[in-house]
Amino acid sequence: MRELRVAVVHLDRRTAEWITPEPDLVRESVGGAALNLALIGRYGTSSMVFGAGPLTGTFAPASALLVASFAPGEAAEQGSAVPAARMAESASAAAIRHVPLLLTAGPDFRCSGIDHLVLLGAAEEPTLIHIDGGLVRFLEPPKPAADLPTLGRALRRSYPPFRSAVFTSPAADAGIPFASVSIGLKGSLDKAGLAGAMATKNLKGILFGGSGGIGFANQDLSRSLEIAGKIRPLRKKVGGFDAVLKAIGGGNERKALSGAKIQEAACFHCPAPCMVHARVNAVDPRPLRDPKKQAGVLLMDHAGWVSLARKRRTTALPLLSESIRLGLDPCVAALFLSPAGGIETLASDFAFLQELAKGVGPSPTASASAAAADLTFGGSPLLSGADEEARRQTALAFVLGLCPIFLQRFPSVSGDLPAFLPDVPPASLDRAVKSVLNQR
Ligand code: SF4
Repeated sequence: MRELRVAVVHLDRRTAEWITPEPDLVRESVGGAALNLALIGRYGTSSMVFGAGPLTGTFAPASALLVASFAPGEAAEQGSAVPAARMAESASAAAIRHVPLLLTAGPDFRCSGIDHLVLLGAAEEPTLIHIDGGLVRFLEPPKPAADLPTLGRALRRSYPPFRSAVFTSPAADAGIPFASVSIGLKGSLDKAGLAGAMATKNLKGILFGGSGGIGFANQDLSRSLEIAGKIRPLRKKVGGFDAVLKAIGGGNERKALSGAKIQEAACFHCPAPCMVHARVNAVDPRPLRDPKKQAGVLLMDHAGWVSLARKRRTTALPLLSESIRLGLDPCVAALFLSPAGGIETLASDFAFLQELAKGVGPSPTASASAAAADLTFGGSPLLSGADEEARRQTALAFVLGLCPIFLQRFPSVSGDLPAFLPDVPPASLDRAVKSVLNQR
């Protein structure tokens, strides 16, 4: 079994140590969300863990996943391991949330020389972490930015190179419970409060240098091509953007994209892309913006798109873009927008979202929890699963480091996955999946 590299970072002391988890722990937890859970059990529920799975970044299909796991509402006060006897109790009692981070976050994390990152305590000052070549660096973030693009530009200009990043946002800085993290500048599926949990640790972001590589077995490429061939006939019916919209009852909201230039978009090594990138002529009414400029936005969060398109059919794209820019969950942004509106209210809608991101506006708590009923898998209604089998596919994906949306859409692929993991006993994998499903 592969030896895992785990960094334990003390944010309060600005130190990092590398540990190699015991083989028994790895055999029982396999990786991903299950090993994150075990590490939270070891270090206490105020720790936060980012983890890849054994298939993240490999030739297995849709091997894009990085999982961030944390207990909600935990103060970031501790720093040391808890006694083993309290491990299981503390991890299971806390209803740990797992947030999926896709695009290239998982592979870039592993290519930075790390499998799991344990974050302890809280930094005294706002902090950025840069990981590459198995090294963890602590950096001062640029001065506070009003939005993510400003932060992103500052980082690209004068910080060490990075291939992927997970950022908090202005909304998280303001303590908004429905703030979402962003993968680079593209948004995410975080509806479970990861951005807020990072903010309580004074952690502005994690940059993944991603300059290394990931080993693979000789047969993995041919296995991968074989799987892609098997699912090709099903792709349009169950796997594309439209199919996923229909699956969550949002087929009509596809029409809100008419007039936009649409291009399919995929995460790392995904043979059945479910996202689209949409370009429209910018309709941003604020001064100093070029009205002829084209604006683009990635539609990764299907539920967020459906919510906004139902509320504002003609302006859902710029409002989605603005929600991502400010780090707001688009579902909650849609919930709070006034009932009627369109192009004539866009300027006031933008102003409203900006106020929302500053913590001014409607009381968030009750509405936010209504918008995200099941937070175990990041709060996305798509991942909660329509039934037990769908939840099992999600949990399997969270353990192995694959995209849970992909595995839910193509459950038959799960039968082909053990071939990528010859040294993982099926009983161990089963136990790891159950540990994630039964954690509450
Ligand atoms: S199914 Fe969608 S979210 Fe999942 S890896 Fe493919 S493109 Fe990304």
